[in-house]
Amino acid sequence: MLRAIRRILALALPCLLAACATAPRETTTAKDTSKTFTTVVVDAGHGGKDNGAYRNFGGAEKIATLDVAKRLEQKLRESQLKTVMTRSSDVFIPLEQRVAIENSQKNPIFVSIHFNDSRKRGIHGFETYYHSPISRDLADRIQQKLMTIPHSANRGVHFASFRVLRLARYPAVLVECGFLSNRREGGDARDSEYRELLADRIAEAIVEQRYGPGVYRGTAHAATPPPAEGPSPGLVPTTLKQN
Ligand SMILES: [Zn+2]
Repeated sequence: MLRAIRRILALALPCLLAACATAPRETTTAKDTSKTFTTVVVDAGHGGKDNGAYRNFGGAEKIATLDVAKRLEQKLRESQLKTVMTRSSDVFIPLEQRVAIENSQKNPIFVSIHFNDSRKRGIHGFETYYHSPISRDLADRIQQKLMTIPHSANRGVHFASFRVLRLARYPAVLVECGFLSNRREGGDARDSEYRELLADRIAEAIVEQRYGPGVYRGTAHAATPPPAEGPSPGLVPTTLKQN
């Protein structure tokens, strides 16, 4: 009898352990709102005492992220989506608080805006990160839309354990909008019209993710390729122009 019980325990224990190992993940698994979301939490990376990356070409990352985030928010609002900013000025917001802001919304997704940095100045291109598989679609779509920007380089969509992604209870992605350490992309990051373009492509991806292709009308003129000689006039709403 005892031997039989031992045998059952020996068989059952690994199963129980396996269940324990996966259980916490399952309970914290994000709710898939990737096709039904009504609110977009727009997260401007860094801020306040946290500059993020800082390079001569691109300046402080926190400035560029805030500007792109504000432009993105405006475009999403114009597309009838509710928005929440984790910060809308140059203030320091701890990562936990950013996650808390997202997790306290009804039916949200989370999009974090960053710029990249490398010791190798030649490295350039866009990267988009996700943690939960339910965020993968959105990450792919954002990356795809960014790649429609002329001269863009694709550094891919990757899994990452960044806290703002790992702790999110809803789909969450982090976009690296180019390298401040690269002469061209750093220069682009300082350019308000280029930031407008970044925001436009990310907004288009988000609206497409929610409502399907062809619905995004935020800046219809920006969807056509800009002329070879510089960006088209009127791309930047005067209300948003900041230098
Ligand atoms: Zn960053």
